[in-house]
Amino acid sequence: MTYTLPELPYDYSALEPYYSGENLELHHSKHHAAYVAGANTTLERLAEVRGTNDFNSLVGLEKTLAFNISGHVLHSIFWKNLVPGGGGQPEGELAAAITEHFSSFDAFRAQLTQASILVQGSGWGALAYEPLGKKLVVEQVYDHHGNLGNGSVPLLVFDVWEHAYYLHYRNVRADFVNALWSVVNWEDVSKRFESARKLDI
Ligand code: MN
Repeated sequence: MTYTLPELPYDYSALEPYYSGENLELHHSKHHAAYVAGANTTLERLAEVRGTNDFNSLVGLEKTLAFNISGHVLHSIFWKNLVPGGGGQPEGELAAAITEHFSSFDAFRAQLTQASILVQGSGWGALAYEPLGKKLVVEQVYDHHGNLGNGSVPLLVFDVWEHAYYLHYRNVRADFVNALWSVVNWEDVSKRFESARKLDI
């Protein structure tokens, strides 16, 4: 099985005015597509390496594999985390868990906002479920795969690579992050929380 680029669950212009259709189209059809291709190519290269039994290139390939698969996974989650007409606040068990682990929704929102804005270089802010302590945590991801707690499951992710926003928001990353809150699909985030809570480590 090879990886494929998923269709967006909405039109490219559907998240306007919070996210321009032109930026979203490039982001999905070019940038996300590159990680899909990169993951497939790297897996092919690894199969070749196993065939020759010469593992000199293995370390670089493993890094490339982690980068591309993680990029594909995070973008696949990101598109579904957004929805036209979204925003507001979660309800039910997710809302209760956010209050329990961050003291309030506003405190959580401030932490995820700042974790996203303050990424040095390229990366993501993420709300994640940590299954050993059964906690919600905010993570600051470098590139697509650095600075992560092992086992954590991303529930809500904000892409703050320059490719994600530069066409629309130029250098003002903070405006992009603040705009994303207006299109969060809390139903999707809640569904991910429900399924992550079944994990046992
Ligand atoms: Mn991206």
